[in-house]
Amino acid sequence: MRQSQLFTKTQKEFPKGEISRNAQLLIRAGFIDKLMAGVYTLLPLGLRVHKKIENIIREEMNKLGAQEIFMPSLQPKENWEQTGRWKTMDDLYKVIDISGREMALGPTHEEIVSPLVKKFVNSYKDLPFAVYQFQNKFRMELRSKSGILRGREFIMKDLYSFHLDEKSLDEFYEKVKEAYFNIFSRVGLKEKTYLTFASGGSFSRYSHEFQTVTLAGEDIIYVCEKCALAINKEIKGETSKCPVCGGEKFREEKAIEVGNIFKLKNKYSHPFDLSVTDQKGEKKEVVMGCYGIGLGRLLGTIVEVYNDEKGILWPETVAPFQVHLIEVPSENPEVKKTAEEVYTELEKKGREVLYDDREVSAGEKFADADLIGIPYRVVISEKSLAKGGVEVKKRSEEKSQIMKLEELIKVLTM
Ligand code: ATP
Ligand code: MG
Repeated sequence: MRQSQLFTKTQKEFPKGEISRNAQLLIRAGFIDKLMAGVYTLLPLGLRVHKKIENIIREEMNKLGAQEIFMPSLQPKENWEQTGRWKTMDDLYKVIDISGREMALGPTHEEIVSPLVKKFVNSYKDLPFAVYQFQNKFRMELRSKSGILRGREFIMKDLYSFHLDEKSLDEFYEKVKEAYFNIFSRVGLKEKTYLTFASGGSFSRYSHEFQTVTLAGEDIIYVCEKCALAINKEIKGETSKCPVCGGEKFREEKAIEVGNIFKLKNKYSHPFDLSVTDQKGEKKEVVMGCYGIGLGRLLGTIVEVYNDEKGILWPETVAPFQVHLIEVPSENPEVKKTAEEVYTELEKKGREVLYDDREVSAGEKFADADLIGIPYRVVISEKSLAKGGVEVKKRSEEKSQIMKLEELIKVLTM
């Protein structure tokens, strides 16, 4: 894409009233725009990253054999009364239409997916299976000070699984754990993300959270020095030993919950009478699991982990473009000609290139490139041409390198 065509612009100043690092950088660099506290627009650059994250998650969900659906945000009050959450869920947004009918804006979808599945499932032969979606969630979050880590409207991947018994749920749950590790590893958060024991509510002893260590985190976790699992402070209580390896040494860290997995058992199948007949012809309540990842939160977490004083440093797998091609304005027509050639050639080879063809100073272009954080910067200037090629630099490195055109194409399209 030509940067001259990008309708958004970078901003020199940090946005006023935005205290979180992720939103400050993402707004300045033109990835997102803030509409109000906890509500953001994804701009072209931000949406590209969001879609990359979405596709990585989708691939891992499909590998699990889960089927993608899309459920509505606007939900009948009756479903929420059925589980009692119309009254008890304090972050539920309630809307009322002109006829006086009350509805919920979905904060999660157990109340919708359970009666949905009931329409299709009646025998043990129909189980197990899982469905998932990428969908807007609405939550009346009280503290919306963490930028896109805590939105009032945000996109979540929510997966729900349905089983005949707990054994089947346990097996699937372990597979989801693996899929989650793959996802966090593929988006560049492997080293910083810990499987964390959290309270399981009244239905199981523990649930699991995936917590990424960052100072922007709102949770405190204790990482076991021996096996690298963690325990959320909220449940640690008097526990002095790691529930997995028995280790007794912990490191305290601030962390953000990027995902969680939960054994719901019959919590939602019960109120909706979601049941099947088993092999003996007896009626059995379906056993469920639910598994969430917040995409905006994950995007913001990546920014919290990968930034420096100049801007963002995107991991290649989620970067909006792989190459930031910069043409340094010059009287010499060769510069523009070469830049156009490189742009066409790289795009032809399937590379995603942001081509800075704007008529602004080189300094401004370099500062924007650092702020936006695309992994490779390729500069074409009179100087680079005089040295026989183009200048290549990784965003994460200080030193640049002169390469011949053919060499560049080869390196960047491998
Ligand atoms: P938290 O304790 O941070 O409020 P939660 O327990 O309410 O999270 P879940 O209801 O389990 O979260 O939602 C599943 C996932 O959705 C979370 O792991 C997180 O990645 C994401 N998520 C939850 N709330 C938000 C939010 N307000 N903004 C962005 N993502 C969110
Ligand atoms: Mg919450």
